Amino acid sequence: MDMNLSNISTIRHLLDRHGFQFSKALGQNFLINPSVCPRMAQQSGADQTTGVLEIGPGIGVLTTELAKIAGKVVSVEVDSRLLPVLEETVGDLPNVSVIHGDILKLDLAELLTQHFSGMDVVVCANLPYYITSPILMALLESRLPFRSITVMVQKEAADRICAAPGTRASGAISAAVHYYAAPQMLFQVSRGSFLPAPKVDSCVIRLDLHAVPPVSVTDERRFFALIKAAFGQRRKTVSNSISAGLGIPKPAVVSALEAAGLPPTSRAEQLTLDQLAALSEQLL
Ligand code: SAM
Repeated sequence: MDMNLSNISTIRHLLDRHGFQFSKALGQNFLINPSVCPRMAQQSGADQTTGVLEIGPGIGVLTTELAKIAGKVVSVEVDSRLLPVLEETVGDLPNVSVIHGDILKLDLAELLTQHFSGMDVVVCANLPYYITSPILMALLESRLPFRSITVMVQKEAADRICAAPGTRASGAISAAVHYYAAPQMLFQVSRGSFLPAPKVDSCVIRLDLHAVPPVSVTDERRFFALIKAAFGQRRKTVSNSISAGLGIPKPAVVSALEAAGLPPTSRAEQLTLDQLAALSEQLL
C-alpha cells in the first residue's frame, strides 16, 4: 500500500489501528524526517545488483527506500507486533522479505546463502541503540562478505566508533572496528527526527569492510582480549589495566611494552592499532 511512512499522522493512525505501543526496551524510535531514509539508502551504496540486510525495520520507512534502489532487501524484526504492520506497508513489495527474529541469534551465514546467493551484500539500518556495539561486533566478527555497513547510531557512539585508535576519543570499539573496517561519519540527524524523540542526537555512519585487516596478529582472540583489557580501566596505564584484565604480572606487561617500543606509562587511548598489535604479539 502506498503511504507516507514518515508522516506523523499517518504513522499514528497506522499504529493505532494495530493497537501498537512503542517499546523503550526494544529501542523503538521511528524516523519521521522524510529526508533521512532516501539519503541513508543512497549512501549505503546499494544498487540493483546488491542485497541489503536491514536490522529492525520498524514500520518499514527505510525498507521502502531501500527496496526502490536495491535488488533485494531482507529485514529482520524482533517485535512480532510489527509483523502485521509490515505486511501492510511492505508486504506488496516483490523484492522485500521480512524475517521475524533477533539479529543477535540468527544464523547470518545461512541467511546470506538463502537470500543473497551470488549478490554483493550491504547492511543498512537504523539500529536499536541498546545493542549497537553487540550488533556491529557480531556483523564484523562473522567475517561474512558484507561490502559495507551503513547504520544510524547515537552521536556519542558514532564519535567513539569513528575515532582513530591512538586519539583521545578512541575506545575498545574504535580499535575493534578499525581492525575490520574503515569507518566514516556520513551525516547527523537531530533527535526531533524520531517518534518518540530520544534524549540524544544521532549520526549515520558507514563502515567499509577491509579485504584484509590493516595489521596482522597471530591470535585474533587474544588481540581482542588485550584491547578489551587495555580499555577496561580507562584512567589507568595499560600496564595496570592489562595486568588486571588478563591476569599477567605487571613486570611482564612492562617488558612487553618496552619490547614493542612503548613507554610503560602508555594509556590505551594513546596506542594506535599498529602499537596495540605489536603489544599483543609481545605478550603471546
Ligand atoms: N527502521 C525503523 C525506523 O527507522 O523508523 C525502526 C528503527 S528503531 C530505532 C529499531 C528497530 O529495531 C525497532 O523496530 C525494534 O523493534 C527493532 N529491534 C530491536 N531489537 C532487535 C533485535 N535484537 N533484532 C532485530 N530487530 C530488533
